[in-house]
Amino acid sequence: PRHWAAPRPCRESFSMVAALRPPVSLQPRCVDLAIIGAGVGGCALAASLRREGFGGAIRLLEIGRGPGGRSATRRSRQDPDLLINHGAPCFNLRSSPSPQLIAPLAAAGWIRPFEGAIRSLDGNGEIVDPIDDGFSEGAIWQGHGSMDALCEGLLAIARGGETTAGEAWCELQGGTLVRQLKLRGEGSALRWSLRDGSGELLCEARWLVLSGSLLAHPRAQSVFGWPEVPLQVVAEERGDPQLLAAQRHLAGMSARASANLLLSLPAEAAQPWLAQPWRLLQCQEPAQQRWGLRRISIQPLACDRAAVVAESSAAFAERHLQVYGSRSSAAQLLGAKPPAEAEAAVLGALEQALSEALAAGLNLSTRDSDRQLMRWGAAFPDPPGLPESLRLCPQSALGFCGDALAGEGFGRIEGALRSAEALATQLKSVL
Ligand SMILES: Cc1cc2nc3c(=O)[nH]c(=O)nc-3n(C[C@H](O)[C@H](O)[C@H](O)COP(=O)(O)OP(=O)(O)OC[C@H]3O[C@@H](n4cnc5c(N)ncnc54)[C@H](O)[C@@H]3O)c2cc1C
Repeated sequence: PRHWAAPRPCRESFSMVAALRPPVSLQPRCVDLAIIGAGVGGCALAASLRREGFGGAIRLLEIGRGPGGRSATRRSRQDPDLLINHGAPCFNLRSSPSPQLIAPLAAAGWIRPFEGAIRSLDGNGEIVDPIDDGFSEGAIWQGHGSMDALCEGLLAIARGGETTAGEAWCELQGGTLVRQLKLRGEGSALRWSLRDGSGELLCEARWLVLSGSLLAHPRAQSVFGWPEVPLQVVAEERGDPQLLAAQRHLAGMSARASANLLLSLPAEAAQPWLAQPWRLLQCQEPAQQRWGLRRISIQPLACDRAAVVAESSAAFAERHLQVYGSRSSAAQLLGAKPPAEAEAAVLGALEQALSEALAAGLNLSTRDSDRQLMRWGAAFPDPPGLPESLRLCPQSALGFCGDALAGEGFGRIEGALRSAEALATQLKSVL
């Protein structure tokens, strides 16, 4: 069917979609488990279920073209070597034992220890020792080649590698915004149906997991202009007290934004950047206030090129919340065209801040670079997250995972992984 995800030519794991067939007993559009969101939480849930021995059909529905969510990598059709980690550039594991998925991901080469030093920038523009910013303590990992390798590796596990369930069916349906949710039936005959903005049926499922909070949160109304919050409608219709509580909790959560300047530098311009003794530069609080930047990463690319990503402070992003990058998935999906002048002004302000912050004789120029903007409206959720007791709503055949779940790693990739593993353990007995 045309709505199925087209294999992406650049990575082998995507072409596996075409090779795997749904179990004969299932209609193509009816799956055992639908997961909304193919970020780390959604992909890790699919992978954990396989490792737990679950052999049913899983479909992930995702707004972005590929997996990754806030740990995705921006790619260019014209320039296959251009890979920019426009969300998380790495991830840290602060507590042990590590999530169980780490060992198979590392063994198969999807992730590797983070390469490059971390330093910090003080309010005088001096580069000094790193600080505890929550994202740099413990073991630090990165996707091998680019950050989206983390989610691609999780999907490879979900599709049959490293599993006791044998080769199993798991499909990523990218470029798809789930707009409407419906739940009908009772008990073991419960069925979720998921529709897009035009009302077309995307998928039916016995169980549903939300790995992002969008469909439960009033920002769905402000961002997309929807008259209602989709999960709230279901919760009120069904009257399941646990679902009502979970939806209200998610709806009440706030998050900090981040406006990111993405620069790609040709080989010559990249050299002074690559010669720096750091790959991640944390901005201390006074530096954030002075320049409106939170962190800067230098990301080496093939052929001596580099990408540089300057992540804004939350305060800067808040001031420019209405301006999002014209090349982002959300903009493309909405067919929205943010005013070019507003985008240019935000890009200009971030570039200026970057030059001023790093002015101290480092000879780092952004001339000759290609510039893009990535605005994350909800980059970092504020605590407290969704409590463990609301992670699974069996009466409504619904679960939640992702970094918005309370617990170790909240607001980070570690939390997305741990919440998915915990949910998989619970789901195993009911799926
Ligand atoms: C700029 C930035 C820097 C960061 N740096 C770090 C770092 O250094 N270390 C770290 O550990 N973490 C970092 N993080 C946080 C980290 O990226 C997140 O914690 C993690 O990626 C969350 O994964 P998730 O699966 O819970 O959510 P997400 O990645 O947000 O995944 C949810 C997915 O659901 C999709 N979705 C939502 N609603 C729908 C719908 N209706 N239909 C279809 N799809 C839908 C979204 O498109 C999204 O892809 C950073 C985040 C940002 C933005």
